[in-house]
Amino acid sequence: MLRERVANNIYVFTSEMYAQVTAGAIVTSAGAVVIDTLPYPAETRQIAQFIEERHGIPVRYVINTHYHADHTNGTCFFRHARVVSHRLCRELLVSRGKVALDKARKSSRDMSDVTLVLPNLIFDDGLLKLHVGGVTLELSHVPGHSPDSIMCLVSEERVLFAADTLMPLPFFADGSYDDYVATLKSLLPESFENVIQGHGEVILRGEVREKIEEDLHYLRIIRTKVEDIINRNKPPEALERIDIEACGKSRIPLNGLVQNLHRKNIQALYSTLKLAQNPS
Ligand SMILES: [Zn+2]
Repeated sequence: MLRERVANNIYVFTSEMYAQVTAGAIVTSAGAVVIDTLPYPAETRQIAQFIEERHGIPVRYVINTHYHADHTNGTCFFRHARVVSHRLCRELLVSRGKVALDKARKSSRDMSDVTLVLPNLIFDDGLLKLHVGGVTLELSHVPGHSPDSIMCLVSEERVLFAADTLMPLPFFADGSYDDYVATLKSLLPESFENVIQGHGEVILRGEVREKIEEDLHYLRIIRTKVEDIINRNKPPEALERIDIEACGKSRIPLNGLVQNLHRKNIQALYSTLKLAQNPS
């Protein structure tokens, strides 16, 4: 696990075991807030140790930015924390999280200590403001990557934990293409000191706008290409030929995992557009 400090009281942890997942910690005089956890217990335990032993403070809150296992598996290692999420995150953890965890536990011995923890401080639409030790966190619902996705802004520092709304490749196969575009557009007028993506490197102030524009560009191109295949009645196999680099994105990030995400995006968009064309 890599650790970096992005502001006086804000740390980012990046998994070296799976897909450069990130988690964050905000250290305050009244305890710490952890934003997401890392996929494997060994790494999340290091976060807990760093906060509880190095800083000598308890973790008061764990924020689940969305229900995906790579971000929520470690919630159970912060036993005394309140767990905060959007209402839909709790519902999705109930309906899908348990099945996913049972599967993960069967496939990896490392996961045997992981138990499912459901959020117990949930919000619905709008904004939730959390005040902890002089720090204000603004949580907002930003569907797109998944229906339950939220972001977390540390107001005083203008540091944004964007979670999977920003990652090396926008990924909406479990969410909604249109919502994703709307969410990204809503971020364009804002300014941030640092943006922490759900996977990959921290984005610095001067790079944020370009990153969002690049993501919107990718989303526009794949839509044009998928629509073209549908309009010309080409067979679905033609989708396979939509190359990630022809859509303005590199095939390299996250050890090449972005190519799988790209394929899933294309399939999801094709299904959505087909359904819109022939609702049954
Ligand atoms: Zn995710």
